[in-house]
Amino acid sequence: MEIKKDSKIKNVFKRYGKIMIVAAVAFVVAFVAAVGVGVKDEGEEVSTDSVVFALPMQNAVVVKDYADNYLQFNESLNRWEIHLAVDMIAENPSVFSIYDGVVLSIDENSLDGCVVKIQHEDGFVSEYSSMSQELMVKQGDNVKKGQLIGKSSDSAANEMVDGAHLHFAMYKDGVEIDPNIYLDLQNK
Ligand SMILES: [Zn+2]
Repeated sequence: MEIKKDSKIKNVFKRYGKIMIVAAVAFVVAFVAAVGVGVKDEGEEVSTDSVVFALPMQNAVVVKDYADNYLQFNESLNRWEIHLAVDMIAENPSVFSIYDGVVLSIDENSLDGCVVKIQHEDGFVSEYSSMSQELMVKQGDNVKKGQLIGKSSDSAANEMVDGAHLHFAMYKDGVEIDPNIYLDLQNK
């Protein structure tokens, strides 16, 4: 019986041995790759942790949150849409730059109102929409973290129903990102 068993195992190994070895090697390679990626991710996290952003408003309440995976109803435009920004209101309408940087652009259109974009280090850009026209900065200005740049208002027609508020967006390397990842906006 035992000999038979042994030969059975040998036969199985003969037949599937190569596949088993290939599978084992593939597993090890995948494991090493996964560990390698993990280490790399940790390294990247450390580098972004060096940038600590300030809040764009003081004691603000979030009235519409960032969401790239579900639609939110826009009462002003009477339609459902994704909202790649955080809308906030505060008793004090002052809006501050979230970090040191350079004013990249100042634009105005009826839908978004007055829009200030600030370029920061590490490929970060912050964008402040529905701003009042009376801004404290102009294109090309160097700004400091926490510097007053202007006031929130109801200048954005596409969110008129929300009243005076700040529509705040962030980009990293040109791609919209969730500001909640970098800023503690929710319980203010
Ligand atoms: Zn908004």
